[in-house]
Amino acid sequence: MEIADGWDEVEIGRSRGGLPLTLYRPAGAGTIDGLLIAGIHGEEPETLLLARRLLERIDGTDTSWAILPCANPDGVLHGVRQNAAGVDLNRNFPSASWQAGHSFTYPPGTQVRQREHRTNRSSPGETPGSEPETQALVALIESLHPEVILDLHSPLELIAPTPAADPELVARLAAAADLPVQPNIGSPTPGALRDWCTDHDIGAITYEVEHAALPQLVARHLPGLSALVTH
Ligand SMILES: [Zn+2]
Repeated sequence: MEIADGWDEVEIGRSRGGLPLTLYRPAGAGTIDGLLIAGIHGEEPETLLLARRLLERIDGTDTSWAILPCANPDGVLHGVRQNAAGVDLNRNFPSASWQAGHSFTYPPGTQVRQREHRTNRSSPGETPGSEPETQALVALIESLHPEVILDLHSPLELIAPTPAADPELVARLAAAADLPVQPNIGSPTPGALRDWCTDHDIGAITYEVEHAALPQLVARHLPGLSALVTH
C-alpha cells in the first residue's frame, strides 16, 4: 500500500552506512505533538512495519504526530540489532547513564530473545552520541519539541514510560492492547533513548510488542497506536 495523503517526507540525516533516515511529518503542520520512532533495533523489523501501516492508514491531515519508521536502516537491511559500525544505537545516547564497554542488551535469562542474530552484549559506541543516527535523533527531538515520544520495540510485551510521560495517555495505550505498564524494564539500559529522555524530562514511552506475526501485531496494537496519533 501507498503512504496516505498529507505527509511530507523529510531526510533528517544518514545512517553510518549512508542510508537515508526518513521522517514523515504532516504536510504544512506547525506544532508537532508527538514523535513515533520505530526500527531503532534492526532485528525488530515488525516495528517498522507497524509504523508503515500507520502511515498507510492515517492521512497526514488527521494527525499532529511525526513518524520515523526506520531509525536504523543499516540494521534492518542486515537483520541485526546494530548499525553499520556495530553499535546498538539505543545504548549510544548521550544520557548520564551512558557507559563505555559492553552492556547487557536485555535482562539475562530472557529466553525469547536468544535467536541466532541476537546478542546479549551491546556495543555503546566509542563515545556518547558517536553515531550519526543518534545525532540525527537528538537534533530532531530538540527541534520538534514533541510532548511525547513513542519508541516501538519487540518482543518484551510491555509499556515502559519515563516519569514525565502523561499517565492518562499511558493508561489508554495499555488498555487498548492489554499490555502491562512496567516503568522499569528489569535491567539497566545505559545510553538508551529513554534514559536520555528521562534526563531531559521528556515524556517517552517504550512500547514493546510481543514476538508474533504481523497480522496478529496489527490486530492487537494498531487500534491503540492509531488512536494515539489521531487523538
Ligand atoms: Zn529493541
